[in-house]
Amino acid sequence: MENWQEIIQKSGYLNLDNALYSKVNPTELNQAKLLGLNASFIEKNLKLNPKDENWKSLLAGEIQIENSFSMAYSGHQFGHYVPQLGDGRAINVGQVGSWQLQLKGAGLTPYSRMGDGLAVLRSSIREFLMAEYMHAIGIPSSRSVGIVASFSQLAQRETLEPTSIVMRASPSWIRFGSFQYAGISLGKKKLVQQLTELSFSQGFPKQADTSGEHLFSLALENTAQTLAKWQAYGFMHGVMNTDNFSILGLTIDYGPFGMMDTFSWNHSPNTSDYNGRYRYSMQPIVGKWNLEKLSEALGVAYNKDRLEKKLEDFYPSFQKHLTQALLNRLGLDLKQEDSTQKLLESWFMAMEESSVDFNGFFVFLTFEDPLDTQKLKQLCGKDLKPIENWIQRYLRLEPNKEKMKKYNPVFVPKNYMLQKIIKQCSLGDFEVLQKWLSLCQNPFLMDPILEEYKGRSPENTDNYRLSCSS
Ligand code: AMP
Ligand code: MG
Repeated sequence: MENWQEIIQKSGYLNLDNALYSKVNPTELNQAKLLGLNASFIEKNLKLNPKDENWKSLLAGEIQIENSFSMAYSGHQFGHYVPQLGDGRAINVGQVGSWQLQLKGAGLTPYSRMGDGLAVLRSSIREFLMAEYMHAIGIPSSRSVGIVASFSQLAQRETLEPTSIVMRASPSWIRFGSFQYAGISLGKKKLVQQLTELSFSQGFPKQADTSGEHLFSLALENTAQTLAKWQAYGFMHGVMNTDNFSILGLTIDYGPFGMMDTFSWNHSPNTSDYNGRYRYSMQPIVGKWNLEKLSEALGVAYNKDRLEKKLEDFYPSFQKHLTQALLNRLGLDLKQEDSTQKLLESWFMAMEESSVDFNGFFVFLTFEDPLDTQKLKQLCGKDLKPIENWIQRYLRLEPNKEKMKKYNPVFVPKNYMLQKIIKQCSLGDFEVLQKWLSLCQNPFLMDPILEEYKGRSPENTDNYRLSCSS
């Protein structure tokens, strides 16, 4: 039997000034059931036994771990600065090795504001699966440890819904908003320095230069790379507020995200995103804007001019990573630089003109005959001529199909599929979750189940949008 109190170490975060956190214990979820565990992560990364019968108690908040706490932060939400936010429904229980473990949905914290501190089942299932999928396709992300749910304790959202807790893990939960809270809201240089130091030790160990300017360079580079991969795989986060941006450049805080179905520059997966601030085409622009806000917060303790100057590196870095990610997906290299670059630029236009299923297109190029017009037609919502012409130009560059297989997952968790899994789980079929976790963790493997999900998304679910409670 695991003795959690011995296994889970006090987090290094608690060495910071106590203005940056509040100690708080998780609230037990009523009659919780264990829905899923990420056995491979628990074994390989946490070096613990997934078969231990006490996982459910830990995940459901039934065990009080000394030194549990929630973090204070602030952030720009949809462009407006909110001076005090914080983990309103997340409680850090401590660290195992280099992993900071957090329970999301484990009850009220001093930062819950008007919220109930709970998470509903559908939102937990989405985070549990998607974080693992992102990791599997090479997009930096927080990880999922396990998920429990209660069908007797309900939370009011659009309707009354079952509640749930996900345990998630990350080397660090420090956010851009953490620096904004320390530097802008509290105006404390010393706290900005403490967060800088801890960000290095949690995420960038062994750096000779541990200045705030250098941390900013690393955060900028990682953010540029992650955002380039979001674009290359059609991932839309939905709520790119600065409090949802990790100092390590990881994808965190999964909410109303979506994988692009039919390509559209202007698609935003979040129904609360009224002005399309976080739409697909805006993601890199917002990424840079968020970095600007981070630089302002770091500027309280470090050299403002140098921080500002580094911002100029963002677009070149983003562009470099985007080009590389697309080349990988298309099986090309930059030997014929000019024509390849032009081909990449024209790809987006052709995709939009022919209304092509974003990820289905890569699967088609990788596993089918790209000249098979009938199959191509099944992926297009409009006239297939533009994308057909583009394919002809593309084939002249002799793509490497073997390379493509490494970068083009056959499984893509579109929102309509996640909705279906949520429905099945809500009806008591929990095995389905473990099956889909395995698909998310092995998305490059063909599975018979995927036959049903081939091609374009059903019309009424295409580019399905979700609310912030997702
Ligand atoms: P999000 O957009 O989900 O990242 O949440 C923004 C802020 O609201 C964060 O500080 C969250 O911790 C907080 N929050 C979201 N949902 C809840 C909830 N149900 N109860 C308390 N706080 C919440
Ligand atoms: Mg958040």
